[in-house]
Amino acid sequence: MGWSVSIGRLFGIPIKLHATLIALLAFFAFSSTSAGHGLYAGMLMVLLFASVLAHELGHALVARRFGVRTREIVLLPIGGAAMLEQEPAGPAHELWIALAGPGVSLSLAGVGWLLLQAWELAVLADLAVINLLLGLFNLVPAFPLDGGRVLRAALSHWMGDRRGTRMAARIGRLLALTAVGFGLYGGDLLLAFIGVFVFFAAMAEERSALIKVIVGEKRVADLVERAPRLLGIACGVDEARALFDDHPDLHALPVVFGDRILGVLYKDRAFAAVAPGGTLHGLLDRNFITHQGDGPLLELLKSMGRANSRAAVVVLAGGEIQGTVTLQRVLDELKAARHTEF
Ligand code: ZN
Repeated sequence: MGWSVSIGRLFGIPIKLHATLIALLAFFAFSSTSAGHGLYAGMLMVLLFASVLAHELGHALVARRFGVRTREIVLLPIGGAAMLEQEPAGPAHELWIALAGPGVSLSLAGVGWLLLQAWELAVLADLAVINLLLGLFNLVPAFPLDGGRVLRAALSHWMGDRRGTRMAARIGRLLALTAVGFGLYGGDLLLAFIGVFVFFAAMAEERSALIKVIVGEKRVADLVERAPRLLGIACGVDEARALFDDHPDLHALPVVFGDRILGVLYKDRAFAAVAPGGTLHGLLDRNFITHQGDGPLLELLKSMGRANSRAAVVVLAGGEIQGTVTLQRVLDELKAARHTEF
């Protein structure tokens, strides 16, 4: 997440403050000092962010128990986010990770309330109220709130990942619109604002969740573009263009020298080249990866991501080059799936 400043590590996890939060804190610090409540407002802020941090650590530490690492925790003005490095393995893990944050918040609220019975301190009342609100708000069943994930995990469990995700997103959007309606009708602009935020966040979350579901169902063999024949590096651009013209579905072709793979030629590069009589040398994408045989598409995409490459050349067990998988092809596939599924 861009625009954030690191403030240290807890349990080995980097903790960051988002720039908008720093600006907000500065604003509150300034306006409350001038009003003479500086110390109390400052303490309240620290309490709020300690509570949000505890909530996010709840997610991160339960995720760790399931073998999912947390890249970083970012604190935002409206809460926080624990950035998990990979997806939880199935709805049950997702459910427990999502419940962990509100669980910590509600527990802290309980502790604050219990201590308040012994010592009547304003700070304990604040601790209890802040964490109660944090816990309850996050349990609202709308993406990207924890309650939305709990709902998604529950629905996915008995209607499958795709339908579960879509149903949870639909319920979340409905709740968000209801909040906007009530907010505008009752003159509560904060509620309306939160509703708008949740509505758009729900759309983004639904999209990325469905992409993961769709990609998760595919295998490399589903996406590989079989090369009708291999292009040698000595081929002219004209020959490559003719091959693309004969096979309009192709996006890319592997280019070889003998049995060595030199790179990937994209259709758009082949046709954008100025000199039709030229060679393929300057047109190749040489930052490709090679992939052996079949396997889950997700694993291939991760390898491509690590190598920062847009294409993979798929090689069969016998060493025979089968074809390419390109990022473009994957995106097209997702777009097609969205039109039929979403
Ligand atoms: Zn949470």
